Amino acid sequence: MAFKPEKPSIHGETPDTLGARLVEAGHPRYRVAQVFEWLYPRRVGASEAMTNLPANLRAWLVENYDFTATDVMGKKTASDVTQKVLQRLRDGSLIETVIIRAPMEGVGQEQSRRTICISTQVGCAYGCKFCASGLEGWKRDLSVGEIVSQLVQVCRIEDQADPIRAAQGLASFDNIVVMGMGEPLANYDNLLAALRIVNAPWGFGFGARRITISTSGVVPKILKLAEEDMGFRLAISLHGATNEVRNQIMPVNRKFPLEELVPAAKAFARKHGRMLTLEFILIEDINDSLEQARKLAAIARELHAHVNLIPYNKVEGLPWVRPSLTRQDRFVKELRGLGVTATLRREKGHDIDAACGQLRLQKEKELRVDPPPAAA
Ligand code: SAH
Ligand code: SF4
Repeated sequence: MAFKPEKPSIHGETPDTLGARLVEAGHPRYRVAQVFEWLYPRRVGASEAMTNLPANLRAWLVENYDFTATDVMGKKTASDVTQKVLQRLRDGSLIETVIIRAPMEGVGQEQSRRTICISTQVGCAYGCKFCASGLEGWKRDLSVGEIVSQLVQVCRIEDQADPIRAAQGLASFDNIVVMGMGEPLANYDNLLAALRIVNAPWGFGFGARRITISTSGVVPKILKLAEEDMGFRLAISLHGATNEVRNQIMPVNRKFPLEELVPAAKAFARKHGRMLTLEFILIEDINDSLEQARKLAAIARELHAHVNLIPYNKVEGLPWVRPSLTRQDRFVKELRGLGVTATLRREKGHDIDAACGQLRLQKEKELRVDPPPAAA
């Protein structure tokens, strides 16, 4: 079900691929550097704004490339810390990109750290039983250009809040987490190509160590990722510390059970020398027992991983329940008592914490969308 847009996205190009097309069309190759300067450090919307390019090249670019493979439809402030940006793809599909703000440590600093949570697919084929993204199945993979465009659009919005960084051509966000809609490692090639553009000095120049990829546990792809030359951070959505529990809520575990997942995660950590994160949604009577906490502690210690506990977010139509605060505390205390570093997200607005995993929580028609910022 691949979608073929009328024109390719300019944000899917590299200097090599764009250079080849320019030369083929009779334009000098050196123009490539100017085009990329406009695309990333300056983040202009369409080629009309690329004022140092000759008019015929600008016209050629507009004719041959899509500058808005993802188009901002509106913003929703989900809480004081989270904002969702709704973007429409050329085939009408909707995706959401989430901006999460966390106060920055430091004397007298008013600034906040901004994490952008991106989507990699429309829907998801993995069908985890607690997740809104998987509810309606998989529709299609995002293209390289759509993944990059998604970030460019959000960066443009953030530029307004951070004109100093924007003027320096730096990305106006601090971290990227690939935790939105879809299983990132199931769209491996497009994701990696997009992240190379994000990382490249001619792109966003954004460090791989500030990019976290979250997976439900696609073992062969974790091993492949470990071999890449870019040292991304890895988060594993564990959500169950035994095969029994994981099988109940995550179909992927039947294909790649814990005895394969844990060694793969270990191989990744060893290769990159980075601490892994284990994501663990707490769901009442499913995985919030002390026994699960003890088994989770054993896995976390084996992997030297940090555990991120996320109280389950209610998804309409699904039967699961978030455990009481007492049960959440009991679980985290047990983990810490066993020497594991664990965070339990419970700040104000915690109900949107898993927003990244619930991007299609409301069906498209139910989305309440504020007018686009540009129109204001
Ligand atoms: N497919 C990848 C990345 C996207 S899901 C993965 O599974 O890791 C992003 C995160 O949101 C995952 O940790 C996922 O388990 C979590 N999530 C999904 N549904 C949720 C819910 N109802 N409540 C809390 N977290 C949820
Ligand atoms: Fe897909 Fe991740 Fe949701 Fe599972 S949790 S259905 S892998 S998006």
